[in-house]
Amino acid sequence: MTVQQVRFVIVGAGIHGLATAWQLARRLRASGRGDGSDVLVVDKSGVGAGASGVACGVIRNNYFQPAMRELMAHSVGVWESDPEAFSYHPVGYLQAAPEAMRADVERIHAEQRAIGYESELVIGDSECRSYLRGLFDDWRAEGITSVLHEKRGGYANNVASLKGLAAKAEAEGVEIRTGVRVTGIEVDGGAVTAVRTDAGDIRCERLVLAAGPWIRDLWAMLELPERIDVTDTDGNVHPNRPMWTYWALQEGTLEVDPHTFTDNAGGLPPVVHVDSDRPLRDSDGLVTEDMWGIYYKPDFSFGGVQGGAAPVEVPRPAAEVAVDPYGTQSPEFVVGEEFVRMWTAALAHCHGRFEGCRSRYRREPSGGIGAFTPDSFPVFDNVRQNAYVIADSNHGYKMIGVGELVARELLGEPQPLLEPFRFDRFRTGRLHPVSNSPFPWS
Ligand SMILES: Cc1cc2nc3c(=O)[nH]c(=O)nc-3n(C[C@H](O)[C@H](O)[C@H](O)COP(=O)(O)OP(=O)(O)OC[C@H]3O[C@@H](n4cnc5c(N)ncnc54)[C@H](O)[C@@H]3O)c2cc1C
Repeated sequence: MTVQQVRFVIVGAGIHGLATAWQLARRLRASGRGDGSDVLVVDKSGVGAGASGVACGVIRNNYFQPAMRELMAHSVGVWESDPEAFSYHPVGYLQAAPEAMRADVERIHAEQRAIGYESELVIGDSECRSYLRGLFDDWRAEGITSVLHEKRGGYANNVASLKGLAAKAEAEGVEIRTGVRVTGIEVDGGAVTAVRTDAGDIRCERLVLAAGPWIRDLWAMLELPERIDVTDTDGNVHPNRPMWTYWALQEGTLEVDPHTFTDNAGGLPPVVHVDSDRPLRDSDGLVTEDMWGIYYKPDFSFGGVQGGAAPVEVPRPAAEVAVDPYGTQSPEFVVGEEFVRMWTAALAHCHGRFEGCRSRYRREPSGGIGAFTPDSFPVFDNVRQNAYVIADSNHGYKMIGVGELVARELLGEPQPLLEPFRFDRFRTGRLHPVSNSPFPWS
């Protein structure tokens, strides 16, 4: 086995590993402190083999938590910097919500204005109906009392954008070594000295873990705790909480010509996200009386109208969850009939054009799992002396800008935008506020 020495080893060729590698190489070169040859990305499979390669690709600012919004505004700027290379479609993002969420939505809008993020707020039942019918003349969902239309954001094509990022990193001289699995991490006196792989050891000065849903395993290799005490914002301590919990993301595609889902002007509509407390029915009867939420967009890459609904918690301890084979190959976590019925009924609830669309749902494995932290928000932090963890709690395809911020931190410039995402917030109780949304990540 060979032993190699590289300054920076990044584990994972998903959105975060690639964005970090690209930005790190740029900054090393620009500052005269090195170049891309100091950065090695290793991935056990290939570029986009994880969550980033199956993500629906929605890019939004729409978060209840101020720290998330500020971070997303930064990332949207990165998407906008090269739409072609990132296969980015800046169609905007529209959230339609019921009365129970109105105050949350108004607050998001006020704070978006405060940070200069362009969005339009519509309040009131009839005002929302007429705004939505101005966009879609077949709109028919009742009980929507707030609409927040973000004029920036939209969606990107998952694999195409990763290839764009990989090309940018490689153009800076970064090597992306695929088919290399990290099997262990050597720590000496609190500092990482090398990563063990199935192709030999690699000594390094800094290690970056960007392993998506596999973070559980890399975290364990660093001998970090499987369970932690979590202090809430009222100072109550919740002992022995699992550090990682897996959720299965529920997404699928309606096999229709994407051109059939345009706005009234024939243009590409914003990504639409609807939350509702109205009973959901289809031709077989009641689907649910609980609060529900869906998102959807016409997508030429998925070849239809693609979207999803709230994720489902995997009801097993993280240690017992088999992450491989990932995503669409993993029969255990692909969406079931319950999702198909709910999502298609909700589409028809919102738009006349989707009436009876369940038969057009594309029967193929879809979805994937994500590793969520105790408060369902990311951890971006140095752990051990020289290991950096990028664990996005499944928020992250849209967060293409995190790599730039992490690269700056790796080079000694602490980033205020990342400060609210440190690991010690679970100890100190500086958790993020919780919204009324049915989604664990909003
Ligand atoms: C179905 C689905 C839809 C989603 N939709 C959206 C969306 O619309 N918008 C959004 O913002 N987010 C979305 N997400 C979340 C988003 O995809 C993830 O948060 C993000 O892609 C994580 O990126 P990452 O770079 O951390 O990890 P990944 O993309 O998972 O990359 C991790 C890489 O690490 C490699 N790896 C793991 N272990 C090892 C090891 N031991 N040795 C070497 N390599 C290893 C893997 O092969 C993988 O390529 C979605 C997620 C899913 C599952």
